[in-house]
Amino acid sequence: MSELESVTAITVDSSPTILLAEDDPVTRMLMTRFLKKAGYEVEAVANGAEALDKMMSRYYPMLVTDWEMPEMDGVALCKAVRNLRLDGYVYALLLTARDSKEHIIAGLEAGADDYLIKPVHEPELIARLNAGRRILDLEQSLRAANQRNRILSITDALTGAYNRRYLMEQLPRELERCRRYAYPLSVLMCDIDHFKHINDACGHAAGDDVLQQFAARAQNSIRSNSDWVSRYGGEEFLIVLPETEYQGAVVVAEKIRAIIAATPFPTRAGDAVVTASFGVASTGSSGPDIALKVDALIRTADECLYRSKQEGRNRTCGHEIVACQALMAHG
Ligand SMILES: [Mg+2]
Repeated sequence: MSELESVTAITVDSSPTILLAEDDPVTRMLMTRFLKKAGYEVEAVANGAEALDKMMSRYYPMLVTDWEMPEMDGVALCKAVRNLRLDGYVYALLLTARDSKEHIIAGLEAGADDYLIKPVHEPELIARLNAGRRILDLEQSLRAANQRNRILSITDALTGAYNRRYLMEQLPRELERCRRYAYPLSVLMCDIDHFKHINDACGHAAGDDVLQQFAARAQNSIRSNSDWVSRYGGEEFLIVLPETEYQGAVVVAEKIRAIIAATPFPTRAGDAVVTASFGVASTGSSGPDIALKVDALIRTADECLYRSKQEGRNRTCGHEIVACQALMAHG
């Protein structure tokens, strides 16, 4: 679930922190004072190099920088900040004693969003920073909307599991990673037994309840930081277990199978007794064979699931994909 967990919105607080870069100590002190009075948090440094160090250590939504400074000037700083990968947009305002058009253009082209000619008129600086906050707010809501869309686009709406699209995007990467580091990889194909009966007898809404709870029980039975559940089809789920070899994967499948069968599923049409069948496919313990493709891994899990169904359901069959090895049955 790492991807969903890492998606957290960047919040621009009600008083965003300003990083102020100004080499003149008196100006620095005066500006710090009146920016604080205007309700901003302020951290002040004496040149561009120090400002860049700060920028790399945490996210400052606003940068107010003098142009002429020793070591690294404001224009070089703006350029450098635009090349950093940061958690959010930095609204950069350049202060300059130079008022020629060419200089102003150079400053904006280096990455400044706005500029003010020194000596700074305090109410104007505050007004321009407040305008910058509107842009930061906009950027933040756009970013949050993108993150929501990203989650929606990779999640199954009913169960909250990853969808098939995410599976087909992510499983090849998982397989490649395991190949590179010579780790084993296992997948469990799970299918709810006689799901059509549940839908027919209890209604589709109750069927949805069962699917939701199946996904939740499966999710709660696996390692939350590395394993993940995807909805493969109607009542079929594929669970991905990186760095898990065959015997371990069978244990996980049997654990989930037991948890599903142990307690009836409460639904809006009453309790439903649910069982599920499992097919386990694993690479060898030292990682996937060079020729192994995702399709073959999934197909193997599917074939094992089919055997579980054939042999009476509510059971686990599996296969470790190494050369010349016979299929093994469990459960
Ligand atoms: Mg200066």
